[in-house]
Amino acid sequence: MTDSLISSAYSQALEVIASVEPRIAEATRQELADQRSSLKLIASENYASPAVLMTMGTWFSDKYAEGTVGHRFYAGCQNVDTVETLAAEHARELFGAPYAYVQPHSGIDANLVAFWSILANRVESPYLQKMQAKNVNELTEADWETLRHEFGNQRLLGMSLDAGGHLTHGFRPNISGKMFHQQQYGTDPETGLLDYDAVAAKAREFKPLVLVAGYSAYPRRVNFAKMREIADEVGAVLMVDMAHFAGLVAGKVFTGEEDPVPYAHLTTTTTHKSLRGPRGGMVLAQEEFAADVDRGCPMVLGGPLSHVMAAKAVAFAEARQPSFQTYAQKVADNAKSLAEGFLTRGANLVTGGTDNHIVLLDVSSFGLTGRQAESALLDAGVVTNRNSVPADPNGAWYTSGVRLGTPALTTRGFGHEEFDTVAELIVDVLSNTEAGTTKAGGPSKASYVLGDGVADRVTKQSADMLDKHPLYPGLVLS
Ligand code: PLP
Repeated sequence: MTDSLISSAYSQALEVIASVEPRIAEATRQELADQRSSLKLIASENYASPAVLMTMGTWFSDKYAEGTVGHRFYAGCQNVDTVETLAAEHARELFGAPYAYVQPHSGIDANLVAFWSILANRVESPYLQKMQAKNVNELTEADWETLRHEFGNQRLLGMSLDAGGHLTHGFRPNISGKMFHQQQYGTDPETGLLDYDAVAAKAREFKPLVLVAGYSAYPRRVNFAKMREIADEVGAVLMVDMAHFAGLVAGKVFTGEEDPVPYAHLTTTTTHKSLRGPRGGMVLAQEEFAADVDRGCPMVLGGPLSHVMAAKAVAFAEARQPSFQTYAQKVADNAKSLAEGFLTRGANLVTGGTDNHIVLLDVSSFGLTGRQAESALLDAGVVTNRNSVPADPNGAWYTSGVRLGTPALTTRGFGHEEFDTVAELIVDVLSNTEAGTTKAGGPSKASYVLGDGVADRVTKQSADMLDKHPLYPGLVLS
């Protein structure tokens, strides 16, 4: 697609929007300007292609299509069937998965579909037998009571939030921590690394129905063959949430025992992080779970977002190109450059480095909380998010860490040199920031004082790099 086509398409779309609600058109323009002029280091974000973005803005948004391909609860779904079939086909090919369910609206939805599929598939209950016979209406009140009891008494073992797991991996305040009896595994207190023997010991003792692997803030690779061995030993279902690193799997950076798809009974993901697609979710399943996953609607979901499924198909088609493998490798290489940039400047990293797309910076050596560091960095145009470190003394709100990721800036074309400079700029900001005080004069975990001139200095240096690697080059809004 030529630059002028993309430029005129977006310019005209914004005019159409402005004719109804100019403030939304203005906010949309401003968001592009802000994204263009800041260093986006949020590990879960990326920049989808214009083709992916444009696919989301169509009349597929107007169509209801509850059900599955060829088996819908609404008339007129022939084109949605085409879209869903193509998205699922691309997903199966991309990940080498026996089955792909592309309807989940987000990562959390995908995980809920997976949880309920596991319950439906593995828990002996009248529900299971009657659903298989398609006569769920025959369930009596007593059956439902048994069902609630049986489904509500299952166990889940997942990675704890402060070790890098996600809310949906059994965190108490999340539904996953309430619908299951849960226990959490952490990382080795010395190394910060996953300790498979400790996970196995916990699994043997707890005997979970579901073992969840995957993470949001763990800067290392996971051996999924080992996780499957643990699951098999205790009779658990292995569910891998690859939301963060799906792009590294699709791009063949994670292969063999680091590729979860052949080992997990169910693999869930988002499609908008390192995979660089539209905002959404997906479940990949081994054949034995396919029929259960297909019941995502009505189990958990309502009408699928057909426009987003269409954009997933486009993004997966992009990810099947050889250029995506080059991109994914660069994401991992750049994370190493960023980590080395910090280590050579004396900063502390959780696990001492990275071998995926995440760098978890422990900011306590700068005398700051994660919240203070995040805010000071934002003042200098560096967009990050604060994150707990293992056994974080500052808890999940203030934290002691800042999570950084390379997928977005790699999409802009940043390489080794630029990521080394990014580390230099971040260290510059943090070493020139002091923790503030509360109104009462005590130490504050939120307020901070950024040294004079630091924000300007850093913004100027980032602007040089950002100008050299423009976001959506050629896209000029009139
Ligand atoms: N799973 C993991 C590992 C994640 O990191 C996230 C998002 O941060 C999710 C699930 C949830 O994804 P979403 O925000 O699309 O619901």
